[in-house]
Amino acid sequence: MSTVEIKNLHKSFGSLEVLRGIDFTVESGQVVCVIGPSGSGKSTLLRCVNLLEQPTSGTVVVDGVDLTDPDVDIDAARRHIGMVFQQFNLFPHLTVRRNVTIAQERVLKRSKGECDRVARENLEKVGLIEKIDAYPPQLSGGQQQRVAIARALAMNPSLMLFDEPTSALDPELVGDVLAVMRKLAEDGMTMLVVTHEMGFAREVADRVVFMDGGVIVEDGPPEQVIADPQHERTREFLRRVL
Ligand code: ADP
Ligand code: MG
Repeated sequence: MSTVEIKNLHKSFGSLEVLRGIDFTVESGQVVCVIGPSGSGKSTLLRCVNLLEQPTSGTVVVDGVDLTDPDVDIDAARRHIGMVFQQFNLFPHLTVRRNVTIAQERVLKRSKGECDRVARENLEKVGLIEKIDAYPPQLSGGQQQRVAIARALAMNPSLMLFDEPTSALDPELVGDVLAVMRKLAEDGMTMLVVTHEMGFAREVADRVVFMDGGVIVEDGPPEQVIADPQHERTREFLRRVL
C-alpha cells in the first residue's frame, strides 16, 4: 500500500494563496481524515495529491515518486491513486457494469473477460452486484456513490482519496457508504478522506488533520484532535459541526 509525503506545499490561484505551506505524511495502510471549514483548501490539497491541480511549489511524493518532478510519468503515477468525489461523476447513459469496466479496458488494457470479473468482484464488495445492469439514474445517491467506489477500486489503487463522499447524500444513505469505506480501511487501504463525518473520523481515522486558511492547524490521533483539541480554531470548528 501507498505512502504519501507532502512537503511545504503551496498552491495559489492568481493572487489567491489557497495552500500556504502544507506538510504531512500518510503511512502505508493509514487512514487520515482532513477536516476544516469550507474554503480552507481541503479539496485543493486532495487535488494536488493526484495532480488534478499543479502545486505552485513544494513536493508531493507518493510511494517514493515525486509527482512534482517534471520528468515523472504522471499518468502512470496517477493510475495507482483512486479518487471519489462528492458528486459521483458516473456516466448516466452507461450501465453500472460499463461504468466500472470502461477505464479498466481503456487505461489498463485488460481483456473484456477480466474487466467483467474485476467489476463483479468490486460490485460484490460494495454490495451492489444485483445492480450491475442498471443505469446510474435508477440508483439512489448512496448506491451511485458505492458504484463510484467500486469503479475506483477496479483500477487496483494503492491509495484512495475521498472528497466529502457523503456530503451530497440524504442522511439515511450516508451509513451504507461509510460502511464500505470502513471495510476498505479494515482491509488495509491507505486513505486520505476529506469529511465532515466526525463519527467516522473518530472511529476509523488513524489521524485527523484540521485545516484552516490553507494551513494545518492541528494533526494528531482523533482522540486528541476531536476529543481534546489544542487550538481555539479547532475547538470553534468542532462546536459548529458536532
Ligand atoms: P474546501 O474544499 O476546503 O472547501 P477548496 O480547496 O475547494 O476548499 O477551496 C479553497 C479556496 O480556493 C476557495 O477560496 C476557492 O474559491 C478557491 N479555489 C478552489 N479552486 C479554485 C480554482 N480552480 N480557481 C480559483 N480559485 C479556486
Ligand atoms: Mg471541498
